[in-house]
Amino acid sequence: MVSLAATVYLGLGANVGDRLANLRMALARLQTLARLEEVSSLYETQPQGVSDQPLFLNAVCRVTTGLEPQALLRFLKNLEWEIGRRPGGQTWGPRPIDLDILLYDDRVVDAPELKVPHPRLAERAFVLVPLAELTPELRHPLLGNTTKELLASVGQEGVKRIAPAGWEKGEGNEGTAGARF
Ligand code: ADP
Ligand code: MG
Repeated sequence: MVSLAATVYLGLGANVGDRLANLRMALARLQTLARLEEVSSLYETQPQGVSDQPLFLNAVCRVTTGLEPQALLRFLKNLEWEIGRRPGGQTWGPRPIDLDILLYDDRVVDAPELKVPHPRLAERAFVLVPLAELTPELRHPLLGNTTKELLASVGQEGVKRIAPAGWEKGEGNEGTAGARF
């Protein structure tokens, strides 16, 4: 059978505003153009690169979509805008939402505005912990290692699991939900 849909892993992050609401909004809006197959646990993580900024919430999801990589990137950038992110912020600085294409089937894309697999995937614990949770045996198409192996070499420092899968369906926001989401 020929499958028209690609399997894509997306990384989500937020560290400004109501981080939880921003992630939930992104996952809800994603479903207009992709089928949401699975969502990882929710993690609170230490910022990388620029350390003087609030903690992030991070998660990874698996979707299937008929969108080609470039069209998916445009959709994600529009969604980032909708959730309040404005271009021109500091590289790796604070942002209300960050949506990254981590893996797109086993495709390799090397365009100026889009690199797949995501070039910093293999060095980021905040990506590898949730990714390995969803798909420990999946191999990086360029490096050849499984996500579990990549995670073992990076370690889990700075990444704290704060809610099991299902967090995305909850009600309330960070202010009212507290530890209960
Ligand atoms: P990061 O996600 O590494 O923290 P940014 O979100 O600020 O950094 O990335 C900015 C640019 O990275 C985007 O404008 C986009 O064009 C580019 N980019 C390259 N590859 C990807 C990818 N796989 N997923 C998302 N953005 C990407
Ligand atoms: Mg990004």
